Amino acid sequence: MHVVIIGSGIAGITFAEELRKLQPDNRISVVTQESHGHYSRPMLSHGFSRDDVETKIILKPFDALRDAGIEVHGKTEVLTLDRDGKTVLCRNNTGEFTLNYDKLVLAPGSDALIPPPFQSSSELFSVVNSLDDLIELRRHREQVIETSGTPLWAVVGGGLIGCEVASDLAKAGDRVILFHALARLMERQLVEEDSATLLKVLQSHGIEARLNAAVQDFEKIGALYAVKLQDELATGFHGVIVACGFKPRTDLARQAGLTVNRGILADEFLRTSDPDVHAIGDAAEFVDGRLYAYIMPIRHQAFWLARFLAGEVKEPWQPPDFKPRAKVHGFNAAHPYLF
Ligand SMILES: Cc1cc2nc3c(=O)[nH]c(=O)nc-3n(C[C@H](O)[C@H](O)[C@H](O)COP(=O)(O)OP(=O)(O)OC[C@H]3O[C@@H](n4cnc5c(N)ncnc54)[C@H](O)[C@@H]3O)c2cc1C
Repeated sequence: MHVVIIGSGIAGITFAEELRKLQPDNRISVVTQESHGHYSRPMLSHGFSRDDVETKIILKPFDALRDAGIEVHGKTEVLTLDRDGKTVLCRNNTGEFTLNYDKLVLAPGSDALIPPPFQSSSELFSVVNSLDDLIELRRHREQVIETSGTPLWAVVGGGLIGCEVASDLAKAGDRVILFHALARLMERQLVEEDSATLLKVLQSHGIEARLNAAVQDFEKIGALYAVKLQDELATGFHGVIVACGFKPRTDLARQAGLTVNRGILADEFLRTSDPDVHAIGDAAEFVDGRLYAYIMPIRHQAFWLARFLAGEVKEPWQPPDFKPRAKVHGFNAAHPYLF
């Protein structure tokens, strides 16, 4: 059996390694746009305060996976799926090629969500969604420090990732203004009391948190960036980071005629509307309407799916109990996170 996996994040690689253990004779191929290896995405938001992050973030080099008998096609994009022919069309720097599959696992993860008003200004802001994004931001930060001294950042979005990134930039010694459209931080994950504590923690790190501040757009004035609010232009930023949530990557599945809602719909056996195509990770929407876009439940999905395809479990996947937690320096919530 040839199992093809799209994506080398925690979903794709946990699944590949587990299936390799359970079924040593299967051919397993991972196709991924990444070139750095399999890395820890949660570490991205702590990528400014540590000098060694670009090496420490790598959990497994692709060559180590190849040594374990997993084919890895790095720097390769899957362009289309042909479900009738059971092939995926791929492209890398040498050209296009196809892979045949018996089972296909979609683990393409998520993009940063860019609100529609910002979409035409994408050259005016950055996101922290991949290791390439972080490397680019670190390079820019070094240049600013060399030429202008302490950087001033605008972070747009006071959700989990925005608060983590703001807190890590402040820990690295930078100045940060955090803009959040709503009246309290991380309102989707925290009860009001914990949002208030989080605000105090961020302020104690020197971060200016501007609540009820709905950003409309961005501008570049000379070498600096400006953030447009309803009736104000906040200026003087060396960089703008947009952290407004995540968007499951569903295009391939949609083009292939699979059922897609916010994510790729997966039943209780993590099967899409095609029984030979499974979906896990940030891109998958479970039958309960939820996206389990955290490391712990994604690993749980990946282990379960490997065991299911190896014939070792017959019962449906059950979401595990898990506790999300924000990695804001110095912050601990007093109440459980909402999910
Ligand atoms: C900054 C940040 C901090 C986070 N912190 C935490 C945390 O503290 N705790 C926690 O539980 N979760 C955290 N998360 C969420 C967690 O990282 C994600 O839920 C998880 O990494 C998703 O894994 P995944 O394998 O589904 O997708 P991804 O990690 O996104 O991997 C998807 C892979 O698919 C590849 N791909 C996509 N489309 C194609 C294509 N067409 N062709 C080839 N390859 C393709 C991509 O290149 C990528 O390698 C954080 C996320 C971010 C961005």
